[in-house]
Amino acid sequence: MFGLMQDRPLLIQQLIDHAAQNHGDTEIVSRTVEGGIHRYTYTDARVRAKKMAEALLALGIEPGDRIGTLAWNGYRHFELYYGISGMGGVCHTINPRLFPEQIVYIVNHAEDQLLFVDLNLLPMVEKLHSQFKTVRHVVAMTDRAHLPKDVEIPNLLVYEELIEGQPGTYEWPVFDERTASSLCYTSGTTGNPKGVLYSHRSTVLHAYAAALPDTLGISARSVVLPVVPMFHVNAWGLPYTAAMVGAKLVFPGVALDGASLYELFEKEKVSFTAGVPTVWLALLQYMQANKLKLSTVKYAVIGGSAAPPAMIEAFDKEYGVEVLHAWGMSEMSPLGSVNHPKAKHAEWPEKDRFAVRLKQGRPPYGVEMKIVDDAGNELPRDGKAFGDLLVRGPWITNGYFKGEGGNVLRPDRHGGGDWFPTGDVATIDPDGYMQITDRSKDVIKSGGEWISSIDLENAAMAHPAVAEAAVIGVAHPKWDERPLLIVQKKPDAAIDKAALIEFLSTRVAKWWLPDDVQFVEAIPHTATGKILKTRLREDFKAYKLPTA
Ligand code: AMP
Repeated sequence: MFGLMQDRPLLIQQLIDHAAQNHGDTEIVSRTVEGGIHRYTYTDARVRAKKMAEALLALGIEPGDRIGTLAWNGYRHFELYYGISGMGGVCHTINPRLFPEQIVYIVNHAEDQLLFVDLNLLPMVEKLHSQFKTVRHVVAMTDRAHLPKDVEIPNLLVYEELIEGQPGTYEWPVFDERTASSLCYTSGTTGNPKGVLYSHRSTVLHAYAAALPDTLGISARSVVLPVVPMFHVNAWGLPYTAAMVGAKLVFPGVALDGASLYELFEKEKVSFTAGVPTVWLALLQYMQANKLKLSTVKYAVIGGSAAPPAMIEAFDKEYGVEVLHAWGMSEMSPLGSVNHPKAKHAEWPEKDRFAVRLKQGRPPYGVEMKIVDDAGNELPRDGKAFGDLLVRGPWITNGYFKGEGGNVLRPDRHGGGDWFPTGDVATIDPDGYMQITDRSKDVIKSGGEWISSIDLENAAMAHPAVAEAAVIGVAHPKWDERPLLIVQKKPDAAIDKAALIEFLSTRVAKWWLPDDVQFVEAIPHTATGKILKTRLREDFKAYKLPTA
């Protein structure tokens, strides 16, 4: 027997309707790419999102079409989130920091029909547009007055002109909640980036879970500043969760340095913020150097990489900011766990409480986790045993866009749905706190961006003097991790660090270049002939990078 409740689909456009109807005068503030501060409300944002949907239809965009964005955090990007998904399109956010070849690959693979581009990224698109196979128009996210006269992009449109004549009275369509809503590519261990395709249902359920007190816990009284970019897993869902609860939003644009962020925090009375450790390091250094305090920020989410203990302590003790250590993935929309204490922890000695805070946290309802050994057997939740971390739930991916990346899921022997292997190695304690102890995927995360160790190794191995090369991530105070290249030379070959780096610099992006090269007698291998990274990490445990 079925229940007799209404089967209303969960749709993203309902979030902006809800915000406009119930929090119509709540502000959305943006530091614009053009310069200056832009200020309007959820009511205004809804009208402009509807105008955008009308403009897309007028351009012949159809439901299911992918619309690319190359943009920072700002109000126009927010309108695109709702305007595109709300008319049934797929909002495809692209990371402008990727290499040009990757951007070209991603735009063509997604078959983007339009590409919305922030003003300062137009020069990059000028260089690349001739390689885009499906893009009908590039749209400059500005008005005519700010558009340089000499931009050389055919069929270029201007955002403000595009929506200008539209009525803004569009009635959002109602469709199946499983309809695709947004797309975000994530770099794998090697090869091409893979597309994670979110749905309306997964996005709205994720927003509900994110709003819970022990997840992000934001409300109509919060002022939320996402430092995490809107091209990184939908800014961790904050543009949706903020609209769901009616929180004020503050978008920092392209200025993510300590001084600019600090100014926005103070002027806009920000209470909640979120970003990767590297941005917080810059902010802390700026505040320490200038003897500044934060007067309104209560919570800072640190995620994307492990939150360093000293950073948690500094926020807490020097600035009165509670750090919410969070873990997630593009494939998980992204929230997998957030660290909040339980009631019993209040009575624990400070040292023990702090040890719990260093963990990546507990999953909200909706994310199931388990750790397994190499044979797939579940390991105990005792906080000691560590193994491959598997997850499942309604906002976790079932497979990559166009089926690429292989069948990633692991079937469950007992039924109940398949598990997604995260590539992280973790412990889970009896209270449900998960702690990442290692990574089984071969990647390095520097300042929140991926570096493929395999691609770097292949580049190094192309040198005639190199017998074998291995790359591991080593802790770095500013970037969390930086690559260390470990090389076994060919017998009698002569090569030094400078020559190797010089060789690599024509083959990989500058920020991928290893911070150091160490020469070893022999690179260790597993029984199946793979480089034994665990051993290398162990061997170089005490090693400190010269750049650190
Ligand atoms: P992405 O898909 O780019 O968001 O990257 C997800 C990956 O980043 C995870 O699988 C982890 O390897 C890493 N990661 C994210 N958050 C944390 C964290 N709090 N601690 C350690 N690693 C993290």
